Amino acid sequence: KGVSHKSIINHPNLTPPSTNNHNGTSVKAAFVILTRNSELDGVRQAIRQMEARFNHKFGYPYVFLNDEPFTDEFKESTSSLTNAETKYGLIPKEHWSYPDWIDIEKADKSRKAMEKEGIIYGGSVSYRHMCRFESGFFYRHPLMEEYDYYWRVEPNVEFYCDLDYDPFLYMQQNNKKYGWTISLLEYQKTIPTLWNTVRSFMKKYPQHIPRNNMLDFVSNTGGFSYNLCHFWSNFEIGDLRFLRGEAYSQFFDYLDQSGGFFYERWGDAPVHSIAVSLFLNKDEIHFFDDIGYRHDDFMHCPSARELQKKCHCDAHAAFDLTENSCFRRWVQL
Ligand code: GDP
Ligand code: MN
Repeated sequence: KGVSHKSIINHPNLTPPSTNNHNGTSVKAAFVILTRNSELDGVRQAIRQMEARFNHKFGYPYVFLNDEPFTDEFKESTSSLTNAETKYGLIPKEHWSYPDWIDIEKADKSRKAMEKEGIIYGGSVSYRHMCRFESGFFYRHPLMEEYDYYWRVEPNVEFYCDLDYDPFLYMQQNNKKYGWTISLLEYQKTIPTLWNTVRSFMKKYPQHIPRNNMLDFVSNTGGFSYNLCHFWSNFEIGDLRFLRGEAYSQFFDYLDQSGGFFYERWGDAPVHSIAVSLFLNKDEIHFFDDIGYRHDDFMHCPSARELQKKCHCDAHAAFDLTENSCFRRWVQL
């Protein structure tokens, strides 16, 4: 059979250092892709663009996670697209199942009702496990333990701009804990009791909420109600130590205990965003304007001419200044 493709691309002379950048400063970081075997084509597209626009110069590893074992085909046709390390992890059952305090009958009933109402993913059990996993478990997977920063990637997304610097290093050097590109409004019907739960959390744990927090990003009423704004979590560059820290851990546990991931359909995007807004200040949150990006129907494209030069997106078609975006609110804070 000869030498396998894999062993050629992993030849030491061809493999860039996976955690080093140009300056030799080390950032412990990885891409993390939760996905299914059936999404292979979309995953390949996303990797292809990530490599072309950024990672061929930096060689950060990819961590793929799945609630079912990845097939050999999936592993072969993703690892073949990059010189960087690729790792494939199975999600432990406890991270993708009902916790014992959930009333499964009640969850079944509420899913049926939400489906009838036409709420997006309202009837899906797997979507709920996915949202709970992305809210509280991906950063605890054994394959993620060695990293300090993550960049979340999904199948079928696009990256439009050359990125000539290392965003992980930028995060590290500037003490950034959370980075985003698109922000928008959540569907109220997926989170009827989320904000009340957040409010009782805030009463119980006031010590976690600094004075110069970003509550005004998610509330127009000084914390009384949720304005539905959130950072779209299919793109995130974040500090894993923030998620593993006491404040976020207690926040996730508190929400999880309330059952809203199953009785309602709480998304990981509002959960992350509310936590970021409660626990961080504006300087710790970064808007990656220079990363042109599309997920489904919404895209971000930088409008500054200097940035445009490195991109192939149409800034006029960007989501940022449309009605359902929360970008304006961010800018005004
Ligand atoms: P949307 O972006 O909210 O429309 O939801 P997606 O269907 O894109 O799911 C979000 C992410 O979770 C994507 O990366 C999917 O590949 C992944 N995902 C969703 N459901 C499952 C699942 O049941 N199993 C696995 N392994 N991945 C999933
Ligand atoms: Mn998606």
